Amino acid sequence: MNPTTVLVTGASGFIAGHIIEDLLRHGYAVRGTVRDVTRTETFAHLTSLAAALGGHLEFVAADLGSDRGWAEAVAGCTHVLHTASPNPPAVPRDENDVIRPAVDGTLHVLRAAAASGTVRRVVLTSSSLSVSAGRTGPVTRPYTEDDWAIIENSAPYGKSKALAERAAWRFHAELPADDRFELVAVIPGLVIGPLQRPVVTTSVESVQRLLDRSMPAVPRLSFSYVDVRDVATAHRLAMENPAAPGNRYIVSGPEIWMEEMAVVLAAEFGPKGFRVPARRLPYWLMWLVARFDPTIRLALGFVGRTEPLSARKAIEELGWTTRPTAEMLLATGQSLIDHGLVRPAAGAAPRRRTTR
Ligand code: NAP
Repeated sequence: MNPTTVLVTGASGFIAGHIIEDLLRHGYAVRGTVRDVTRTETFAHLTSLAAALGGHLEFVAADLGSDRGWAEAVAGCTHVLHTASPNPPAVPRDENDVIRPAVDGTLHVLRAAAASGTVRRVVLTSSSLSVSAGRTGPVTRPYTEDDWAIIENSAPYGKSKALAERAAWRFHAELPADDRFELVAVIPGLVIGPLQRPVVTTSVESVQRLLDRSMPAVPRLSFSYVDVRDVATAHRLAMENPAAPGNRYIVSGPEIWMEEMAVVLAAEFGPKGFRVPARRLPYWLMWLVARFDPTIRLALGFVGRTEPLSARKAIEELGWTTRPTAEMLLATGQSLIDHGLVRPAAGAAPRRRTTR
């Protein structure tokens, strides 16, 4: 049994749930933060999992919008994996609704970690948008950890992730040596993979929409996907690897066009009654749909654009690996079916998402 206690913030989230599962399977004791501990339905799947594995898992309340609860949350923990951040399905009316909790929340967590006297390392869940957001010119090479978003051109979510990561590095650099913990940033591409409970996070919607035909034609969009199980492994490697501190690590598979995704999904799920669209959605129609559909509106700026990411550093330095994109897509599709979130042709199940 590994005696180390790891704090995972935002334990009800898609990525955090898989991180917690991976940590429990590797013998770590885990404490998770949730906004409301009385809403046990948001973490019951993890409680059952911990019981089945004989692992130690507990939950405490803390909200990114306040500094209350964070000192108690980190108390006694040696490591903090900070995943909590607003991940909205649509562009918010006021960008500060996303930016403030992301940035202030990160600083609440880091201040508590610095004051704890026990936290040795913090792993921050950043986003590929913190390297790529706000770039409109042609992309001539894959993005690396040396790249940063152009904040003033970024949409609110990308801005929130880039600003939160920048704030974390700045806070860390200014810490007195005595209070200094180690800091690592994990930078995932678009995360898909099996769902632990029937709640669809924004990034999984691209697969859901193809299977439930709520998108009857395929936009010219390209994604750099990464499987949530591989993202969980990356967080543990970033937490354990002695050479990781001070580094950013992009974790992502290669890019795939949505039309190619549709082919992969149709080959597997077509025979099971899912009519995956094959026709391309013309830009003018997408623009029209975007007036009513906030998720499509979010995607409009990415039409026809490729944004390749290089995960070479994580592969070489952390020994991280990514599974093939087709495997991620099929696992996501099967999980959506198993949870009753998509149904064959006649009608789609009502879509549920993480917006609460
Ligand atoms: P998710 O399922 O929506 O999880 C987000 C978590 O953050 C939830 O537990 C949520 O709590 C929590 N949270 C949001 N606002 C909060 C607040 N004000 N106070 C406390 N907790 C708050 O999203 P996810 O996909 O797992 O994302 C997790 C992290 O990965 C985020 O930092 C996200 O930016 C990053 N990321 C995601 C992707 C992706 O494709 N999904 C890609 C790159 C990076 P509630 O349950 O109470 O809402």
